Amino acid sequence: MRLLEYEGKEIFENSGIPTPKGKVIKSTDQVEEAINEIGLPLVLKVQVPIGGRGKAGGVKIVESEDEAMKMAEELLNKEIKGYEVSSLLAEEELEIDKEMYCGIRSNREEGVPEVIVSSKGGVDIEKIAEESPVVSKGVDPLSGLEAYQAREIIDEIGVEKEIFSKMSKILHRLYNVYTSFDAKLSEINPLVVTGDGDLVASDSKIVIDDHSLNRHPEYKEKIGQHIQNPLEREGEEKGVNYVDLDGEIAIMANGAGLAMAIMDMINLEGASPAAFLDTGGGLSRERMKNALKIFLKKEKQDEKVKAILLNIWLLISPPDAMVNGLFDAIEEMGEPDSPIILVLQGRGKYVKKGSELLKGSNVELYSNVREGVLEAIKRAKGA
Ligand code: GDP
Ligand code: MN
Repeated sequence: MRLLEYEGKEIFENSGIPTPKGKVIKSTDQVEEAINEIGLPLVLKVQVPIGGRGKAGGVKIVESEDEAMKMAEELLNKEIKGYEVSSLLAEEELEIDKEMYCGIRSNREEGVPEVIVSSKGGVDIEKIAEESPVVSKGVDPLSGLEAYQAREIIDEIGVEKEIFSKMSKILHRLYNVYTSFDAKLSEINPLVVTGDGDLVASDSKIVIDDHSLNRHPEYKEKIGQHIQNPLEREGEEKGVNYVDLDGEIAIMANGAGLAMAIMDMINLEGASPAAFLDTGGGLSRERMKNALKIFLKKEKQDEKVKAILLNIWLLISPPDAMVNGLFDAIEEMGEPDSPIILVLQGRGKYVKKGSELLKGSNVELYSNVREGVLEAIKRAKGA
């Protein structure tokens, strides 16, 4: 789960990492208050869980109250990289002397946290990384980031003496944020050197490992707000893994690997998936209903969808729960225009029972995945 910039900055501030003075704005009514608190000029930044906002027109500096009102109005009605903007962060403008970069990320190959620093940062960090020294070092997770390691890393990028100890403090604090929030990434880009020689985190990027969200209930609660696609949000709320795509065939399976294998088969045949849904194992009636309802909504609102392909393995999930859940969803949403193609596999007697229960319905039953996939593709191509 990627936190929004202002959420990350709250964590930074509580961890002793300096951030600019700021205030979250959800409507233009709050602009005046923000100016009273922070002053002018003001930096207005859209709060969406994606990077590259600056280049996408989501970071603006305004000089007057009038300009601030107009710009806030414009930004709050904007869409940035597919995300509807519902809040802005208004901040004091920093006088930027230099933009640097620092971050802690999980190095999956080495299995350790890794500290990354660069004396140059900002919106073109990928390009910068090709040209100027970016230093990275693995950290022993048991001993944590040691003082000498921080010194070595900063030494290598060569910063002025005045900045050295400030940067070292920030690295240690950033490392603490990374571990205490079970993050996969905690990053400051840019880390700004101000005209007065202070270091300030001008942006934040904290990605919490979703598997640890039980330990961070305050963020678990919010996860829905970070997902802007309504169907994906519904999936999150209902405990199924739904990914919205833009092809013709909506694929659901009770297991992520299974669903991905089917995606591959569809792609190999030159067709494309419209959606991906993993119901997870131990399929209950309720979960089957909730999952299929999302698919039926997708089918209704996206005319590109031409087939719904389900691959359900009945191993531990009893057939009546699955079939009744399926019927419940169709009853609530109505029959779809596209065919529902169901590949049913698993324990012999479960499959037999499931097939019997489905007799008389419009669901088209297959026992072989490849046949089901090819049929879905045929239907998607209008045959
Ligand atoms: P991102 O594009 O989503 O990573 O958003 P950032 O928060 O990193 O902002 C993008 C760029 O806007 C920064 O690299 C800065 O160059 C610029 N910017 C942001 N805040 C300020 C500020 O207070 N003063 C100035 N002069 N520029 C800023
Ligand atoms: Mn940034």
